Amino acid sequence: MSGRADDFDRTISFAKVALDQIEALRISAAPRHYELWYHYATGYNAPLNAAINDRLAQTGKLSTDEVDRLHAQFFAPSRLGEQIESIGGKVAGKIDQIMAVIDAAMGSTSRATETLADASDQLGHAEDATAIHQVIGDLLRTVKEMETSNRELEQRLGASKGEIAKLQQNLEELRSESLTDPLTTLANRKCFDDALVRLVEQAATQGQALSLILTDIDHFKRFNDTYGHLTGDQVLRLVALSVKQNVKGQDVAARYGGEEFAVILPETPLRAATTVADYIRRAVMGKELMKRSTREMLGRVTISCGVATLRPADTIHSLIERTDACLYAAKRSGRNMVVCETDPEVVPLDTKRIAS
Ligand code: GH3
Ligand code: MG
Ligand code: MG
Repeated sequence: MSGRADDFDRTISFAKVALDQIEALRISAAPRHYELWYHYATGYNAPLNAAINDRLAQTGKLSTDEVDRLHAQFFAPSRLGEQIESIGGKVAGKIDQIMAVIDAAMGSTSRATETLADASDQLGHAEDATAIHQVIGDLLRTVKEMETSNRELEQRLGASKGEIAKLQQNLEELRSESLTDPLTTLANRKCFDDALVRLVEQAATQGQALSLILTDIDHFKRFNDTYGHLTGDQVLRLVALSVKQNVKGQDVAARYGGEEFAVILPETPLRAATTVADYIRRAVMGKELMKRSTREMLGRVTISCGVATLRPADTIHSLIERTDACLYAAKRSGRNMVVCETDPEVVPLDTKRIAS
């Protein structure tokens, strides 16, 4: 009893802290915001509290958008897991129902077969028309019962088919959500990792070219510090759009990390991939940024790109490492440029290793 009372006091005090925070910051008390602040009040999720305290220390406030972003970051993945589990449970339930329908169908078929066998036996021994009538009457009744039960089974199967199609669609939506970066709607890191393994294997077995572009926004920290994280997020969307608009077909464009993007280009040799990277670089540079809320002009951002192509002895790791070395060379050589692995700016990895 006292345990319950303790629990009551504890949870009410967490709830009060959560509501105080919501009131003080003047953000909406929507359930997801309440959830975030409730968890904050408990202090059980240290990384969440660190992220919130960080923001509060920097600006003294948190906007509704920032709270939404934190909520997506700290709670959305488990939501996804819960949803997948719930759909999985529903699919399992549907399968049980269908198995029961199939069992019922098999039962009624075997009963009808028995009735037919009996009828055939009785017909063989029938001595007069009355007995034959009797057997035929029984047979007709059995056929009618079969018809009714078949119709019922069809209806139940039809309803299950519809529900399963709906569940399949839900699962497909969740699958695509789990592979998409919510901020930019590009493929996320997991999707990139999976695609790279698959496409490198395909290129190696079919003897085709495959190139990789890694790109990183120049001086983005400075941009964030000057204009704020939310405007920074807008820039991430804009760079993602420039990437998206310059890739095609089977290319995979992904958000590789915070302000880093990657493009896998199957069937594309180094030169062509370098051209694609330069199109992306020019597209980003060509966009003048404007802060939506104030229409203030914020200038332009630039990106640096590294490009490498698959070699026969490559592993996923060595391909990424070479591409990253090119990106590093682009940064070192002044930024806002594309460096590919045959360019003189690139320090070969072996040399770097010897030098270090
Ligand atoms: P460099 O030209 O050498 O790449 O400099 P930089 O400032 O871009 O590099 P650094 O790695 O020091 O900083 C990356 C910054 O990217 C840190 C962080 O402020 C910002 N960043 C990372 N992820 C996000 C995000 O999701 N949203 C926003 N707004 N900024 C992010
Ligand atoms: Mg970076
Ligand atoms: Mg950067």
